[in-house]
Amino acid sequence: MLPPGSWLGCLGGGQLGRMFVHAAQAMGYKVLVLDPDASGPAAQAADDIVVAAYDDMQAVAAFGKRVAAVTTEFENVPAATLEALAAVVPTRPAAEAVRIAQDRRREKRFFSDHGLPVGPFAVIERAEDLRAASPTLFPGILKTATLGYDGKGQQRVTSVEQALLAWMSMKQAPCVLEALIPFEREISVLVARSADGATAVWPVQENQHVGGILDLTIVPARIDGTRLAEAQDLARRLVAAVDYVGVLCVEMFVTADGLLLNEIAPRPHNSGHYTIEACVTSQFAQQARILAEAPLGDTSLVQPAVMVNLLGDVWFDAATPMQPAWPEVLALPGAHLHLYGKAEARRARKMGHVTCTGATLDDALATAQRVKQILRIAA
Ligand code: ATP
Ligand code: MG
Repeated sequence: MLPPGSWLGCLGGGQLGRMFVHAAQAMGYKVLVLDPDASGPAAQAADDIVVAAYDDMQAVAAFGKRVAAVTTEFENVPAATLEALAAVVPTRPAAEAVRIAQDRRREKRFFSDHGLPVGPFAVIERAEDLRAASPTLFPGILKTATLGYDGKGQQRVTSVEQALLAWMSMKQAPCVLEALIPFEREISVLVARSADGATAVWPVQENQHVGGILDLTIVPARIDGTRLAEAQDLARRLVAAVDYVGVLCVEMFVTADGLLLNEIAPRPHNSGHYTIEACVTSQFAQQARILAEAPLGDTSLVQPAVMVNLLGDVWFDAATPMQPAWPEVLALPGAHLHLYGKAEARRARKMGHVTCTGATLDDALATAQRVKQILRIAA
């Protein structure tokens, strides 16, 4: 195990990096963040920062020399950067796993090639691909193959004609067309795998999205026990198939006929923030353990939890604009406020979250509803 006091490297300076920094520091490690922004959420917490673009190979090499292991919190770090680092320092996850998650074409093909359940889809690279698309893909969702997040780069389409127009508006970028899945619930599963192949799976999360962005995460997910076990098993099979080392999140749809994979994120995930207060080991502490080659921590749920995502809208919609009612939130028993230190609130920008824990899931849900009322979060 790397001795505490060693330097760990984190590619990316967002909130996931910030929470990783906090967890790694709690275990006595120092963290060097590489990010183009000198004042982002992780940079504020890091022990030191390298301000550089992810493809500045000179800066990346210098960064690699200063750390004993590297992780990433940002999905779009170029695979070439991870490969260059892996040549000089243990880099988790490896470029190959990140490359799969970076491109929906690769991701969907990976699922189907490995016999993992995935809904109907077609890869769209030419207009003919759309014209030839099976009628079973409509109504569907056209998604750009790369760089999508929070539902960006996606359009719902009901016919080939509409899909062609949508594709033109997406500048004919490579896409995946997916059939719209009539899901009962959306869930995600976090799984950790260490360099020696040990795995640990957290409880299953139920996710509710509003406008394509995560709004609530409810744990444990309200689905039957067989499905829960299946979801965890799928997550374990996935990390083994990718030979993954690190923390990974798998998003799935629960349908009347079973589970379907949606996508994977090769890093801790927004839907896993609840693990900080509700699990024995958080997703960030686990990421630090894996980097340090320490034993995996216990992923058991200690208490039910509901996470409310805080978007910039909270600042604009406050009774006194730009002054959300934090004291009222903090007065609620079991409400844990996290703010990411972002200087400017913007609508739809992730600014923080509140994890509500309770003795029962109903208690946690009631607290989450109070948080939403206090902060005037719709629905
Ligand atoms: P994020 O970064 O928030 O995970 P994303 O932009 O990568 O999102 P997806 O997860 O693919 O995009 O889609 C966002 C949401 O849109 C999903 O969580 C789900 O609610 C809905 N959605 C996506 N694909 C489908 C589908 N095939 N059928 C039904 N709903 C879908
Ligand atoms: Mg998603």
